[in-house]
Amino acid sequence: MKLLDKVALITGAARGIGRGIAEVFAEEGADVAINDIAAPEKAKAVADYVRSKGRRATTFMADVSKRDQVEAMFESVWNELGPIDILVNNAGIETIVPFLELTDEQWTRLVDVNLRGPWLCSQVFCRRVVAAGRKGAIVHIGSVQAGKVLPGRTHYAPSKLALEALTRNMSAEMTPLGIRVNCVHPGLIDTDMTAWVMKRPDLLPGILAQISLGRPGEPREIGTVVAFLASEEASYVTGQSIFVDGGWVGK
Ligand code: NAD
Repeated sequence: MKLLDKVALITGAARGIGRGIAEVFAEEGADVAINDIAAPEKAKAVADYVRSKGRRATTFMADVSKRDQVEAMFESVWNELGPIDILVNNAGIETIVPFLELTDEQWTRLVDVNLRGPWLCSQVFCRRVVAAGRKGAIVHIGSVQAGKVLPGRTHYAPSKLALEALTRNMSAEMTPLGIRVNCVHPGLIDTDMTAWVMKRPDLLPGILAQISLGRPGEPREIGTVVAFLASEEASYVTGQSIFVDGGWVGK
């Protein structure tokens, strides 16, 4: 087991990729705190799955872009499960809006969740880990769109590419203090976020033709890579952003 007795907090984990990461983490021996902004009953179902693997779990509803909520979340989880070893910044939103129509509010909300959220959660996490004299690992969840242009994403794509810079710069400051920082860029993964693409026979085959594996990925296929990066098996990996996209960007 790669993550035996580690404590992990995964944001946006009530469904989709976050749930896939939580499942793999529990199977690898981790106790898991499941954060989300919505759907507490789904978060509880993920916690039940974690417990079914013999691990501890808790849920905490919070908006990752709000400092008071994030501080309260870390305080609560730290008290309940013990010191947190691993943070996965998975929560994110995607909207598709043509550049000329994008509003200030749409830009601000998306960048707040996708970029400020990982920055904020990481800062609160790192301050606690450093103060406790402990070690840790962070994995940000970016997107294939860090390396690929899709229409209507002049807000989403920069928010995800920026996670590469956040990863490198945080790694430079935090790795010497014992916290490795990496980023995973998922390709097309079968979740609620992409359900609309899966239902578009006019779009889907064209996208799959660009992907070397010729199929969408499953949330757990992101989870296994995140688990590796968060584990001691990746003890010499930090500051890196890895595309897990079935060979989309590279094709
Ligand atoms: P999803 O929409 O199915 O799940 C995202 C979860 O994050 C939801 O449960 C949502 O409630 C939660 N969330 C949203 N805003 C939040 C906030 N402010 N605070 C806390 N939780 C919040 O999406 P997914 O497909 O599972 O995507 C997960 C991550 O992976 C996102 O960051 C997304 O941008 C990224 N991603 C997804 C794909 C894909 O193909 N599905 C591809 C590339 C990147």
